[in-house]
Amino acid sequence: MLRLRNTLSRTLEEFKPLDGNTVRMYACGPTVYDYGHIGNFRTFVSVDVLHRYLKYLGYQVRHIMNITDIEDKIIRGMLTERKSLEEFTGFYSQEFLKDCDALNIQRPEVMPYATKHLPQMIEIMRRLSDNGHTYQSDGSLYFSISSFPGYGKLSGLKLEGNLAGARVDVDEYEKADARDFVLWKAAKEEGEPRWPSPFGEGRPGWHLECSAMSMEYLGESFDIHCGGVDLVFPHHENEIAQSEGATGKPFVRFWVHTEFLLVEGQKMSKSKGNYYTVRQLIEQGHSPMAIRYLLLSVPYRTQLNFMLDGLGGAETALEGLRNIRRRVADFDGAVGSHPRVLEILTRAREGFEAGMNDDLNTSKALAALFEFRRDLNTAMDAGEFGADDRAGVLELLERIDSVLGVLGEEQELMLDPEIEAKIEERNSARRSRDFKLADQIRGELAERGIILEDTPQGTKWKRR
Ligand SMILES: [Zn+2]
Repeated sequence: MLRLRNTLSRTLEEFKPLDGNTVRMYACGPTVYDYGHIGNFRTFVSVDVLHRYLKYLGYQVRHIMNITDIEDKIIRGMLTERKSLEEFTGFYSQEFLKDCDALNIQRPEVMPYATKHLPQMIEIMRRLSDNGHTYQSDGSLYFSISSFPGYGKLSGLKLEGNLAGARVDVDEYEKADARDFVLWKAAKEEGEPRWPSPFGEGRPGWHLECSAMSMEYLGESFDIHCGGVDLVFPHHENEIAQSEGATGKPFVRFWVHTEFLLVEGQKMSKSKGNYYTVRQLIEQGHSPMAIRYLLLSVPYRTQLNFMLDGLGGAETALEGLRNIRRRVADFDGAVGSHPRVLEILTRAREGFEAGMNDDLNTSKALAALFEFRRDLNTAMDAGEFGADDRAGVLELLERIDSVLGVLGEEQELMLDPEIEAKIEERNSARRSRDFKLADQIRGELAERGIILEDTPQGTKWKRR
């Protein structure tokens, strides 16, 4: 029985889908104006673990993750770089997907783009206007928060002190600035992307995008909505107001929010020099699987303090798990099966599931996995492990890893000439200034435990 902490009820609740065996979930995706940093990817990895665990439990999962390709920061970026909207957002969308692949994040069933859903957004605005939730001012359309009595129910915001009729046009703002928010923004600046609508030429506000895309693919009421904790207000609060204001139905059953990530104990920021993208860490020689492991090793509802030292520890932990898998696969036990292994298997499976069922407590689940490893080593040392036990153990390891996604396929040890050929390939890519290919080769090698160091005497390598 899976229990999830629901931000809306502020309690731990038993999870059951609204509709039989199918779970309908929506996760706010990236705003594609820059490379994603590891704080963003903590959320995407935690949503991926939820998605995978629901499948492990036997549910059909319909998971939608949008790509926000129109928003304040995107417009600033495209105008600064003098690029078209498609050119600017197309590049960062592709880069985002590459990082997802590196971190072994499974693709959601649908990844819709905001700018491809203008008619659905206009339809919601029309319904909101019909229901008396909107007003127009200076060519923009606003949602009147005092027209929606439930406003604040997700974030716990009290509306007293809110300036009646005061408006906010920006996509992001603080709780203290709760105001009527913009649904449709009149085009103002030169070169700003704009679309026609019954409310004038303009573009959608960020919040409206997610209401439109989630309801388009999942229906007016669905099971789970995920995102980072920074989205609770105003983004998700506004999504509820727009969606329920338009449909009159409850929008989402479970709101699931991933906590912040700190780096070396501090809030990550470019000015502090503790700001990391996934690709930077890979270029420094960290393996993507160690990054994923570290991101998921702390339960998603707890703040994670990301330490570069921790990546070394993650690497060692993964090595230990890969070693036990290898030892079991190669173990030459007596014919038959040993009752002790059956006990070990049951305990490991139950321990893993108990952790995951407890609001996806991945640290408990990992503890069960390490106990499994220790018990298996003890059983093999004592000769209490039969040849017929191998399949069951490998199957459970694979099943657990279908959720964690950190062990990967068993890879052959890379031989020295193979490594040197790869380095030569990378050097030639660098000479022809194909830095993308060069980085890709470095990443491939890092993934297989080979660290490169470029020195004035040429590229040196070592095994991790
Ligand atoms: Zn969203």
